[in-house]
Amino acid sequence: MPMHPMEKMLHQALFLQSAQRLDQCPPDEGLEVAFAGRSNAGKSSAINRLTGQRTLARTSKTPGRTQLLNFFQLDEERRLVDLPGYGYAKVSKSKRNEWQEHLDHYLSERQALVGLVLMMDIRHPLKDFDLLMLEWSAQANMPIHILMTKADKLKFGAAKSTLLQVKKHLKEHPAPLSLQLFSATNGTGCDEAWDKLGEWLEITPDA
Ligand code: GDP
Repeated sequence: MPMHPMEKMLHQALFLQSAQRLDQCPPDEGLEVAFAGRSNAGKSSAINRLTGQRTLARTSKTPGRTQLLNFFQLDEERRLVDLPGYGYAKVSKSKRNEWQEHLDHYLSERQALVGLVLMMDIRHPLKDFDLLMLEWSAQANMPIHILMTKADKLKFGAAKSTLLQVKKHLKEHPAPLSLQLFSATNGTGCDEAWDKLGEWLEITPDA
């Protein structure tokens, strides 16, 4: 089977730079997709699986790089952005507020941002952080795609029924929203995720 064009492009992903604030980001041009999730949601594993690079997202966990935004270059015009989300880990309230402010700034001001991928552990969906991201997506009318991660931890029937419950819960979401099952462990949902990224990043099948 030929490689998915998005998979091919993600294989070339390279760490570009980190930024603590909007004014430290690369020039606001081209197309950018951001990945967010509570810590332990499986974000690094998802990024690594989708890019076929085992160590890519680990760079975001390297001390000194646990910053607000980590940029990965796909080509001249396209980037992935990893939002480490440490604001919701064990940090002080003031640090968390500061993080939230910078994140809000990035999310609302960044012209290049075309979509947000939100990772949620299928066993613990719709936590505060997720609701915050959903609220922001609604406000900004920013498309959001949810990966229900670690789907391999549940039997298929249970995973599917959780997916449907969450879908029902988000029925009224005013911005474009989609969701799917995902497993970094066995590869469930990779094609679907590549399709969505390809759509957002305007990758045509024979690019
Ligand atoms: P992050 O903090 O969101 O970046 O989460 P990680 O990717 O580091 O994953 C957190 C934990 O969940 C690790 O122990 C991973 O091995 C585990 N994990 C991540 N994705 C999956 C998955 O698809 N299936 C299973 N079974 N475990 C996973």
